Amino acid sequence: LPRKRRVAVSACLLGRKCRYDGGDRLDRELVSQLEGCEVIPFCPEEAILGAPRETIDLVDGRAIGNRSGRDYSRAIEEEAHRFIRENPEIDEIYLKSKSPSCGLASARLYDGDKRLLSQEGTGLFAKVLKKWYKSAKIEERR
Ligand code: SF4
Repeated sequence: LPRKRRVAVSACLLGRKCRYDGGDRLDRELVSQLEGCEVIPFCPEEAILGAPRETIDLVDGRAIGNRSGRDYSRAIEEEAHRFIRENPEIDEIYLKSKSPSCGLASARLYDGDKRLLSQEGTGLFAKVLKKWYKSAKIEERR
């Protein structure tokens, strides 16, 4: 028997209440597509800060807390490396769009003066995953 497709998914898309505001972004269409797969959820920001938590923006390429001014970049990247160590083989990845961690090509990028530079950036967690899982199919969901 062939093994099940191994699919990594932003946990908020699966209905976990792990967003900054304590909510989720349940994507029923995606969930139904994943029937029969081995689903491996992740939420780097919840792992670091819990939920609810302060919002984070990508400022000069760093993930900065809007309330505390703390730089979470290292912590997010370390979460990604930990995920990769635990799950070296992944077939597909579904990422929540617009997130400074999970966004694939939709994250907002700001400069040091907090001016919006782009809305097509890649989140810090997604960046590491993309680099490692070269043969995986990677998509973002609205
Ligand atoms: S987008 Fe990523 S970091 Fe944000 S709540 Fe969803 S899984 Fe967590």
